[in-house]
Amino acid sequence: MTDQDFIDRAKELGFIAAGFSKPKTPIYFDSFLHWIKEVKVGHMAYLKRNIELRKDPQRLLEGLNTIISLAYPYPASKPSTPDGYTVSRYSTPQQQDYHLRLKGLGEKLCKLIKEMFPEGRSRICVDSTPILERSLAVTSGIGFIGKNNMLIVPGHGSYCFLAEILTTAQFSIPSLKEPENRCGSCTECIDSCPTGALNAPFYIDVSKCLSYLTVESKTDIDKRVAGKMGNTFFGCDICQEVCPLNRRDFPTISLPSKDSILAMTEMDFERTFGKTAFERAGLKKLKRNIMMLDPKPQQGRAFINKLDTAES
Ligand code: SF4
Ligand code: SF4
Repeated sequence: MTDQDFIDRAKELGFIAAGFSKPKTPIYFDSFLHWIKEVKVGHMAYLKRNIELRKDPQRLLEGLNTIISLAYPYPASKPSTPDGYTVSRYSTPQQQDYHLRLKGLGEKLCKLIKEMFPEGRSRICVDSTPILERSLAVTSGIGFIGKNNMLIVPGHGSYCFLAEILTTAQFSIPSLKEPENRCGSCTECIDSCPTGALNAPFYIDVSKCLSYLTVESKTDIDKRVAGKMGNTFFGCDICQEVCPLNRRDFPTISLPSKDSILAMTEMDFERTFGKTAFERAGLKKLKRNIMMLDPKPQQGRAFINKLDTAES
């Protein structure tokens, strides 16, 4: 079995791209270091930890020889409630959380590596490992980083999850030219970011980003920022949906109505959204986000006060 057979098998499993790179200091490590020193990361303080591991992936697996970067697609259509409220595409609320799905697929590929290299040891990384995955993906030749900071896979765009397999197996790593950045003079993503979080090409102020504020942040969204959420109550895809390199698609009605979500108990939430990406934010956060969209802010505030009382 050849390296190309491995890539073909990954594609049969649904990955849109797979590529190999050597475990070296990631090409954009210095930019990352500069960014992490400057930016406020709030509840994502973990980004400031394990800098040495991010610099040297060899520390993540003894005897590491090859890093395999993998891209897995998610739909271009936005999940919507019947009453027109939406969530970020990556949440794929009809499916199991992508961390679990990609881990399962990664395990199949690790089995294949074991057949190819019986002595090989492998480790799957889906988001939780301190690794500069977009840098490594660029070096593996599967895509380039757009001005919106997303990995863009040529011919597909940025609607994809990334995962890596670290392995001691020695794949032949072709010397690749970094894929050409196709942003050109376009600045659509920067011009369209509603909060100014994308304030320069290839730079994001996480503390202003709606993806962070509506999912990771433990605090309520500032009322002025909430006014910029449009009708989206989990995540934000604006800097991707304006990108000419992404496919456009109509929203799919795949969520219960806004009022049904607001009326959910924790048990209902578990039944409907257990093991989906929404678990990351949790029911209370989803409800708070929805109430921040409420056209009558006083009502929104009153509801949040009620939640506070119920939680204390
Ligand atoms: S996800 Fe939304 S808020 Fe965050 S950078 Fe992109 S457009 Fe701006
Ligand atoms: S919107 Fe334009 S500048 Fe931004 S990532 Fe897409 S092509 Fe690049």
